[in-house]
Formats: sequence, structure tokens, C-alpha cells
Amino acid sequence: MFVSDILSQKGTTIFTVVPATSVAEIAQQLSARRIGSVLVLDVAGSVAGIVSERDLVRALARHGAKALELEARQVMTRDVVTCDPDDSIDSVMQTMTEGRFRHIPVVRRGELLGLVSIGDVVKARLEETRHETEALKAYIVAG
Ligand code: AMP
Repeated sequence: MFVSDILSQKGTTIFTVVPATSVAEIAQQLSARRIGSVLVLDVAGSVAGIVSERDLVRALARHGAKALELEARQVMTRDVVTCDPDDSIDSVMQTMTEGRFRHIPVVRRGELLGLVSIGDVVKARLEETRHETEALKAYIVAG
């Protein structure tokens, strides 16, 4: 299975903010949309960074209640690792494990196509395993 299979199931909606969006606003968006991260886009629409729940926790630990007034650009991770729609689910899982992050934007030739979370990857991998098991059972019964 490939990243494109996940996108065709879950869709390509991506929640984004601008660099000046406040941490308070991001927290509200994450909570309301039940998601774990938002991408930060610059004025040209390019990926400037990513802010996840973990960045919010880090900012709160460091700045206390004042963290809510900080802006996305002050708490985001700037070096965002991306993947291609043709990447295998296993390779994306490995990238997430090695990089210790749970979200990865999907980009092809500079175009942002979607965002995949560890939850999407695990779900797809479980489906794949179920299909493999069913195919093996059918093979054994047929034999
Ligand atoms: P997460 O596990 O996705 O909540 O993120 C853990 C940390 O990694 C946070 O500091 C995020 O900003 C950062 N992060 C999340 N996704 C990525 C990514 N695709 N590339 C680089 N850093 C990321």
C-alpha cells in the first residue's frame, strides 16, 4: 500500500494556519477539529513549518500561560520532513519512527497534497494485514 491509497480514503483536506496565528487559536483549532497538528503556510502558500500538540505542551512548559500569546512562527518546527504519494506505507512508518513525529505532509513537485498521521498509517497497515490473512486462509482452504 502507498501513501496515495491513504489520501484516496481520507481525502486531501489539510488544516493550515499563517505564521502569525496565536498559540491560543491553534489550540482551539486542534481541539475543535480533533487533530494533532497544523501546517504553517507562508504568504506564498509554501510550508513554513508544522505545529503539533507536542509543540504546544513544550511552549506551555517553557512560558506558562503566556505561551497562549505566542505566534505559530515562534513554536513551529521549521525543517518539515515530507513524503511523496508514491512512498510505501512501510517507508513512511519508518520515517516517522526514526524522526519521532506522528505527522507528515504529502508533497509532490512542490505541491501540497495532504497530511498523513501515524493513526492513518497504522489503520492502513492493519487493513493490509487483514487482507493478507484472508488471502492466506482462502489459499489454504482452496488447497
Ligand atoms: P508529533 O509527534 O507529530 O506530534 O510531533 C513531534 C515533534 O515533531 C513536534 O515538535 C513537531 O513540530 C515535529 N514534527 C511533526 N511532524 C513533523 C514532520 N513531518 N517533520 C518534522 N518535524 C515534525
